[in-house]
Amino acid sequence: MNGIALWLTVAFAVCSALAAAALVVLLVARDRERHRMARRDPLTQLGNRTMLAEEAERVLGGIADMDGDGSHGPALLLVDLDGFKDVNDTLGHAAGDEVLVEVAQQLVAAAGPDALVTRLGGDEFAVLIAGPVSAGGAVVRAKRILGGLTLREFRARGVSLDVRASIGVTVAPSDGRTLSDLLQHADVAMYQAKRARSGVTRYDAANDEHSPDRLETLSHLREAMLEDQLHVRYQPVIAAGSHGLTGFEALLRWHHPERGLLLPAEFIPIAERTSLIHALTRWVLLTAVRDASRWRQAGLEASIAVNISPVSLEHGLLGIVEEVLALHRWPASQLVLEVTESAVTENPEQARAVVGALRARGIQVAVDDFGAGFTSLSQLRGLPVHQLKIDRQFITALDRSPDDDAVVTAIIDLGHRLGLTIVAEGVESLAAAERLHELRCDDLQGFWFAKPMVADEVLSWASEHAANARATAPAPAVGHA
Ligand code: C2E
Ligand code: CA
Ligand code: CA
Repeated sequence: MNGIALWLTVAFAVCSALAAAALVVLLVARDRERHRMARRDPLTQLGNRTMLAEEAERVLGGIADMDGDGSHGPALLLVDLDGFKDVNDTLGHAAGDEVLVEVAQQLVAAAGPDALVTRLGGDEFAVLIAGPVSAGGAVVRAKRILGGLTLREFRARGVSLDVRASIGVTVAPSDGRTLSDLLQHADVAMYQAKRARSGVTRYDAANDEHSPDRLETLSHLREAMLEDQLHVRYQPVIAAGSHGLTGFEALLRWHHPERGLLLPAEFIPIAERTSLIHALTRWVLLTAVRDASRWRQAGLEASIAVNISPVSLEHGLLGIVEEVLALHRWPASQLVLEVTESAVTENPEQARAVVGALRARGIQVAVDDFGAGFTSLSQLRGLPVHQLKIDRQFITALDRSPDDDAVVTAIIDLGHRLGLTIVAEGVESLAAAERLHELRCDDLQGFWFAKPMVADEVLSWASEHAANARATAPAPAVGHA
């Protein structure tokens, strides 16, 4: 090999080594960036769930070595904005994003140097405080964080918004030793803070009446919506005088792959604690109106009633309803939305605004379970509902209880004076049906006429009922629980 060839070989080798080294540096940097990105929320630049999980493992891993009686430890705070959905709904997602970024910065500023602030999704943030802190100390820290959202009035797009937050507080190890336990319990406490409008609430196992598999139920419920496990059953509403069919109420069921048939009481309250309820409300509305429009095409005239959770009685509901009506060309006057008394009494201003807008659109609104709460009829004044559904606790034993009879008589009388139609639910006997007709109750619903049935049974039930309704004896009950 001559000198030039040797020089060239060496130069080539050096260049290759340099190129390889550069490539390695590049790959490592890209890997780091990927790792960083995988642990960051792109909007707020806070850490995400992955980062929280890693940090929690480190912080909670040390619990066993800590001295003391377990009253001090790391704390996990769950921060959830109040009324954030309204921001998105009224001002759009861009404004919502601005609010989230601003909140993120304020949380970091207020949380302190030993705390990690992460965004769990939507308007939910977690603050992990390495501590150790006492429960009282953690509550003080949470209050400081809440106070740190000083502006509370966020100026997005020139509109002043009132964004507040609720914080659930947990301290390890007394409230849980794993991130998933702490998150679950912080969520329960946060929800209590929201309900009580207290701002900050420490987790209290005594108040956590919901089973520890709540989070599991929630994640399964998300899947259930995608995997065809949810179904709607329909219960007829009957005119008290003619016993003719007036409409159907949609009642949700969950065919759980392991637990079997679940009634709404077993999963709706859980869904109501998260934004999942909105998706569920939309799904039931879409399904019920779709089914009802099929029956209509087959010649069956009937209205369709859908239950609306109190938390879904907000401005976004109008958009969903419009979407559903348009999709199936369903007449607004044949849609009844049932809202409970508590929806009306807990947030009367919002209820009035939303109900007003629905009624202006020609949609019927009923107050469900009337009499079960403490609403007096006077509280309904100014609320443009069209119907009261008397709670079934007053109806099922109507023929045997003079007290129930007195209550029902008064509700029907006063309701009529306010121009409302009255439906009695839980009619389980002919005697009750007859008494209600005597009291001039407008419509009846209950097992005595029919149990909730699957969509496919509706048409044949209706034609059989139409034949029987002309006779004095109503049709025998069919269907399932
Ligand atoms: P609700 O709106 O009061 O619905 C009537 C409930 O009474 C239904 O229970 C129905 O099966 C039951 N029922 C009907 N007739 C009789 C009777 O003669 N005797 C007795 N003892 N019970 C009768 P279900 O289906 O278990 O629903 C329970 C509650 O769950 C509903 O009460 C409603 O508040 C809620 N719910 C049902 N579907 C939905 C939904 O899609 N969304 C929301 N947010 N809530 C729903
Ligand atoms: Ca109802
Ligand atoms: Ca009811």
